[in-house]
Amino acid sequence: MVILEAVDLHKRYPVRGTDLIVNAVNGVSLSLAAGETLGIVGESGCGKSTLARLLVRLEEPTSGQILLDGVDLGSLGDRAMREQRRKIQLVFQDPYASLNPRRTAGQALGEVLAVHGLAGGGDGRRARVYELLDMVGLRRSFAERLPHEMSGGQRQRVGIARALAVEPRIILLDEPVSALDVSVRAEIMNLLAQLRDDLGLSYVFISHDVAMVRHLSDRVGVMYLGRVVEAGPWKEVVDRPLHPYTSALREAVPVPDPRTGGELRASVAGEVPDPAKPPSGCTFHPRCPLAEEACRTDDPSLQRIRPDHEVACHVVQREQGSA
Ligand code: SF4
Repeated sequence: MVILEAVDLHKRYPVRGTDLIVNAVNGVSLSLAAGETLGIVGESGCGKSTLARLLVRLEEPTSGQILLDGVDLGSLGDRAMREQRRKIQLVFQDPYASLNPRRTAGQALGEVLAVHGLAGGGDGRRARVYELLDMVGLRRSFAERLPHEMSGGQRQRVGIARALAVEPRIILLDEPVSALDVSVRAEIMNLLAQLRDDLGLSYVFISHDVAMVRHLSDRVGVMYLGRVVEAGPWKEVVDRPLHPYTSALREAVPVPDPRTGGELRASVAGEVPDPAKPPSGCTFHPRCPLAEEACRTDDPSLQRIRPDHEVACHVVQREQGSA
């Protein structure tokens, strides 16, 4: 059963001081079934984080629809929207930045419960805070800890507990482990998988790392310059990619991320084009080893190559034949 659907979503931003427009999300459609994890992968600047912000309505789309349980979120008033928004929560990349440095973990979780009128007050709220800490594998004593008194992995566990506090059905995970030490990543990924199975959650898992999405995802969508260029079951998209960009992402050599000190897989040959001045035709053509003359002028649409596998590439569509 589909619980979340995006239909032809667009988000355009004017570039200040110019007449240029950035199409950060450019006609993305996707669907998420109950209990499923949809991986969204692409280099930084491909529009995947903007897509996440649109799906939780932290930003309004320029056009297109988002349907939650079949209800068009754009048609709702403030009160109904608040109620629906509880069903989708976001876990951020950097838990340190998303936690108030002066609030303990217990206060942070209690605050969310209070805002949403959950778990009553006093003892009931405290019991729920302990329960949430337990769900993410933290001892009760962590309720008294400030963010700087915890490791990166422990802070991300608090970030996940905060998302769980409102009993959502869907969690958007925006690079949830890429700021963490390599040794901690597997622990958090295992925790996320366990929570999904125990609580019947659905995830949209956003990452720059193709290898990382394969651990958790049922299906994967690959984004390039605001568009989905390949989508299908992870076994096909990750293990037997068809689009040259997905292949390049898969082969990308790990390079260090100067912001986090961690490892970042994103070294696809060539520069990501300026999204305010995208290349003509297929926007990947300046970096594509298979580019032909037609790729400079003709923009390929996403087409079905196999029953559940779509690709936007002239060469792949010609060689594989569109279904
Ligand atoms: Fe490469 Fe052309 Fe396919 Fe674009 S359409 S990915 S440039 S081969």
